[in-house]
Amino acid sequence: MKRRIAILGATGSVGQSTLDLVKRSPDRFDVIALTAQSKVRELAEAALATGAKLAVVADEGRLPELRTLLDGSGCRAAAGAAALVEAATGDADWVMAAIVGCAGLLPTMAAVEAGKTVALANKEALITAGQLMIEAASRSGSTLIPVDSEHNAIFQCLVGSCGDDVSRLILTASGGPFRTASAEQMRSATPAEAVSHPKWSMGAKISVDSATLMNKGLELIEAYHLFGLGSEQIDIVIHPQSTVHSLVEFIDGSLLAHLGTADMRIPIAYALSWPERMQTPAARLDLVELGRLDFEAPDLERFPALRLAREALESGGGAAIILNAANEIAVELFLAGRIAFHEIAAMVADALGQTTAPAPRSIDEVIALDSATRAKVSAAAHESCS
Ligand code: NDP
Repeated sequence: MKRRIAILGATGSVGQSTLDLVKRSPDRFDVIALTAQSKVRELAEAALATGAKLAVVADEGRLPELRTLLDGSGCRAAAGAAALVEAATGDADWVMAAIVGCAGLLPTMAAVEAGKTVALANKEALITAGQLMIEAASRSGSTLIPVDSEHNAIFQCLVGSCGDDVSRLILTASGGPFRTASAEQMRSATPAEAVSHPKWSMGAKISVDSATLMNKGLELIEAYHLFGLGSEQIDIVIHPQSTVHSLVEFIDGSLLAHLGTADMRIPIAYALSWPERMQTPAARLDLVELGRLDFEAPDLERFPALRLAREALESGGGAAIILNAANEIAVELFLAGRIAFHEIAAMVADALGQTTAPAPRSIDEVIALDSATRAKVSAAAHESCS
């Protein structure tokens, strides 16, 4: 039977890789719904190519254009927050959550509450509402399949594990474009330099997060929620080749690693076909050509974002929401050329230093803390920039 799928964030980097795989195996998938923020041309093109039944644009002002593009195709056009939730909870049984940032929280949570199999790329949703999402999944019977290459690697290494036999997770990080840069060089880094990742081709926000190593900090919190281990059982090592995507250490001292080329279609394919596997066009790893694998400890002085993320995880309450919201605003300001690269972590540190909040008891509380933090961080940035 064909898997009925919805792709939230279909026009983004993860969304496009998912569509690439789906188009290569049309006999395996029925595309039910696709969504975007504002790129209606790309959205309509994907909807027409896949025969999607519903195309949703978050920006309601773009709905007339989307309707015109889909006229006569049999694909319904819709817009706004409620339509995003409809895409996430409708006829699909498998949902790719690939909206970037906390903006993906509501539809992702709705898919989880509706008991869907959720391929989770939108790490910010899990970081801000981790406990609530894991509890909702256990109530609804939803399966969360991690798409982030590191967590997908761990998910694969855990096949056959009972959970109690795991002693440690090791998340690998490429080190990003500034792995060998001096603190001085990083102070003058431009957005173009920050988004040119040495190994992975990704959207702008996650590319900047990779350059600050905030991405690895967010992944630490993501791993904590997904795999139920303590912060002290999750290590991070820099591995510049990005070949070992992560490792699991078991109580007997065995270490299982997942290796592959740096192509997001590999973890996405595993999520798409789970519990089976499917063909992908990803390049195969040539171990002889590769020759060596290097590992080093992260430098927490040059990359304070990683330290801040671990501190936020360990202090608990609403700290991860504050960390994430401040980071999203700081990355936006950096990409807009309004703050320097090193100010991203400084703004996050300020936000964490100024506010403490209890753990949210509902998604409304998550959204309230997220919005309040964004407003505070934006106002502080406006003051210091003017
Ligand atoms: P992109 O920026 O490439 O794409 C983001 C997608 O979300 C686009 O479809 C965009 O629409 C849509 N979108 C943006 N803002 C909103 C909004 N407010 N409401 C609704 N939709 C919105 O991001 P990536 O694909 O790189 O990343 C997506 C998620 O996956 C992130 O959470 C990231 O951390 C995670 N991830 C990404 C990886 C990668 O390789 N790219 C690897 C691992 C995780 P539009 O195009 O119209 O703007």
